[in-house]
Amino acid sequence: MEWGAITKCIVEWYQQNKRILPWREEKNPYLVWVSEIMLQQTKIEAVKEYYARFIAELPTIADLAKVEEEKLLKLWEGLGYYNRARNLKKTAMQIETEYGGAIPTTWEQLKKLPGIGEYTAGAVASICFGEKVPAVDGNVLRVMARLTGSKKNILLTDTKKQVTALLTKIMPEEAGDFNEGLMELGETVCIPNGSPYCEICPLKTFCIAKAKGETMELPVREKNLCRKKEERTVFLLTKQGKIAIQKRKETGLLSGMYEFPNVLGKLEEKEINQLLETWKLKGKTIVRKGEKKHIFSHVEWHMFVYQIEVIKENTSFLWVDEEMLEKQYAMPTAFQKVRK
Ligand code: SF4
Repeated sequence: MEWGAITKCIVEWYQQNKRILPWREEKNPYLVWVSEIMLQQTKIEAVKEYYARFIAELPTIADLAKVEEEKLLKLWEGLGYYNRARNLKKTAMQIETEYGGAIPTTWEQLKKLPGIGEYTAGAVASICFGEKVPAVDGNVLRVMARLTGSKKNILLTDTKKQVTALLTKIMPEEAGDFNEGLMELGETVCIPNGSPYCEICPLKTFCIAKAKGETMELPVREKNLCRKKEERTVFLLTKQGKIAIQKRKETGLLSGMYEFPNVLGKLEEKEINQLLETWKLKGKTIVRKGEKKHIFSHVEWHMFVYQIEVIKENTSFLWVDEEMLEKQYAMPTAFQKVRK
């Protein structure tokens, strides 16, 4: 492949077509780092609002290092993968103590920080400090698979290693623009669902998938994932405009966040009444509110929701009003779905 011409095309295309994004206005490593962590799960358009709120509240590494966990999780609410938020804070604390508050400038040093993987280290080192290292995410893997016509499974670590090695070899001087160009191409032109916009793609004359008519078959993504299915009964316990919530355990899935009381399994009405007794509660009305599903990476929750107006509150739960729930308590998306 004509790699010299290809890398030049990507850099030039990016410089002429890049979208204006808040974290791109200056090459501030803190802003790039936060945005990259947020972007790992969510698309750019959805991240903008979270990012603006987060940076308005925590404009510097020092602010992030000392933020209280409850506030941090509230700012992260809706983005999922809450350990990423905790790791951001942990890393900020480490940067404060070990690096005097300045983000390290090399891929090697960045990679040693908690929660900074190869991709984020590559993005920060290349975009902010010009280091010639790749940043390989799903967008980059897709563009590269189509461009080279590769039928290798992009979910395999080996495939990622090979793409990383190739990109390291062909990396141009403008490493940041090249990496961002590849990501941007994947986000806006060589898109994941549906046909890519090959006619406006700067790589159309080089692209093997386009030449062979294989753009819809590539990349190959073969999942070998057995997701566990879990049934849960979730309770919206209400009493005079207040609703019961509780804090989840400090370890495991969604640790430290708030949830509506719930138990494993699909309970019948008789079992629900028994459960209310163990909670020292009595239901005035019990209304079945339907079912909700939420998918995590390794487990799928099937939630059966009941709204129960209770006669009096107990002390096992926190009883909060709508405004408190909205502003103070971080609740994961699975339970937000139930609430809606
Ligand atoms: S030509 Fe089409 S398939 Fe090939 S890289 Fe561009 S958008 Fe993707």
